[in-house]
Amino acid sequence: MERNTRQRAAISEALAAAARPLLPQEVLEAAQAQVPGLGIATVYRNLKALVDEGALRSVNLPGDNPRFEAAGLHHHHHFQCQQCQKVFDVHGCPGDLAALAPPGFTVADHDLVLYGRCSDCPAPAARKLAAGKRAAGSGSRVASARKPVAAATPHQHRHRRNTAAR
Ligand SMILES: [Zn+2]
Ligand SMILES: [Zn+2]
Repeated sequence: MERNTRQRAAISEALAAAARPLLPQEVLEAAQAQVPGLGIATVYRNLKALVDEGALRSVNLPGDNPRFEAAGLHHHHHFQCQQCQKVFDVHGCPGDLAALAPPGFTVADHDLVLYGRCSDCPAPAARKLAAGKRAAGSGSRVASARKPVAAATPHQHRHRRNTAAR
């Protein structure tokens, strides 16, 4: 197989195998197993081409670099682990949220992101002991524990038409 084709196939396969939205860096790490010497610039170029062709769409979580997933998945939502920062698909949907909008407003679409801890990450048992002292009001600790986002990637492409919520 020609090198360019092999690169693109490895990138597509990495995303298909992950079955969750991946950062370009995660795509690179997964695809390098198939194409040694693959570089991040090539990953970006292929991701952009695949988005332009309609094979992929970008997933834009607030304050985070774009991730990529297959286009044309059914309506779904995402879960971000606050420990490892990975994003997973959530297949449930609360359904029609129109009643939450102010009176007279029309809801055209919605997006929903759950935050918490994935099943691969250990429960913060040690930290619980330390946090025990500030007992009162500690219920809000988890919600505010979201780590700052690392400025991970060298540059970002903008996929304007993909930023619209489903
Ligand atoms: Zn995790
Ligand atoms: Zn939904």
